[in-house]
Amino acid sequence: DLAMYQAKSRGRNRVQVFSDKMVSVTPDTLLLENDLYKALERDELRLHFQPQFDCRSGRITGAEALLRWDHGGRLIPPSDFIPLAEETGLIVPMGEWVLQRACTMAQQWRELSGWPLRIAVNLSALQLDQPDLIDTVARTLAETGLPATALELEITESVVVRESLRAADVLMQLRALGVGIAIDDFGVGYSSFAYLRELPVDRFKLDRSFLSAVPQSGGDSRLVAALIAMGHRLEVGIVAEGVETQAQADFLKAHGCDEAQGYHLGRPMKEEAFEALLMAHSSE
Ligand code: C2E
Ligand code: CA
Ligand code: CA
Ligand code: CA
Repeated sequence: DLAMYQAKSRGRNRVQVFSDKMVSVTPDTLLLENDLYKALERDELRLHFQPQFDCRSGRITGAEALLRWDHGGRLIPPSDFIPLAEETGLIVPMGEWVLQRACTMAQQWRELSGWPLRIAVNLSALQLDQPDLIDTVARTLAETGLPATALELEITESVVVRESLRAADVLMQLRALGVGIAIDDFGVGYSSFAYLRELPVDRFKLDRSFLSAVPQSGGDSRLVAALIAMGHRLEVGIVAEGVETQAQADFLKAHGCDEAQGYHLGRPMKEEAFEALLMAHSSE
């Protein structure tokens, strides 16, 4: 929430306590909110693209679009402005921009490289609440020419569980368009396995916290292996996030994980860099 947001943006080393009233009139927040509001019209939003790989073949399967804000030459990470964007509702027009840009670039790259690239786009809870979400997605696909099957929408496990009834309905409608659905940060809220099984879902994205101590921790390694096996039993693909070492990549391959994403394999990169990577990859 805003109080947390501001406590963070005020410098991480100081402990501060804000009442809600104080926060709502603090000039810093108002300024940033105003700037964030203008970010869209000033064309200051950027997407970085992080490649995803098939664990077995090592080939690129897709890319995740990750939002950045170019604030006067300083690239601000999403953790520093998405909470405010959600609080103010700005995440809705921003999310539409992300969807449009990601689909446009993905289709351009598919045509340029001939590679069947899939593009993953993050959806916030507020977007899921918009009655016109399905129309927006359908229109964006029509405008950009991207096939529905080349788009995957990522929704976090917590959002799906919190809004369970509505989420199931929306996911069903997105599925009917042909769009893929991935459950992001999968495994963080275990209690929902039984429920997740009932959802129309194509992929689980295993939260990177599970992988950080693999393979040196026997317990964590067994847990990851079990989650992969469980995904397969449910006929859902598993993408492991946060692959930072070759040992982790080897572990995932050995345990039949489908896809992997992480700094060791490829960092989130600017459009030009991703295009160069894809062109080199597709001509190998
Ligand atoms: P996420 O969806 O879980 O995205 C993965 C995050 O992990 C990204 O952070 C990515 O840069 C980072 N990451 C990738 N590989 C590694 C690795 O090997 N090690 C580590 N430590 N981190 C890795 P980023 O780009 O800062 O994004 C943070 C979060 O912001 C995302 O988490 C997502 O929840 C949100 N976000 C980003 N773009 C959008 C967007 O367009 N819309 C919405 N609603 N949320 C977004
Ligand atoms: Ca994601
Ligand atoms: Ca994630
Ligand atoms: Ca995350």
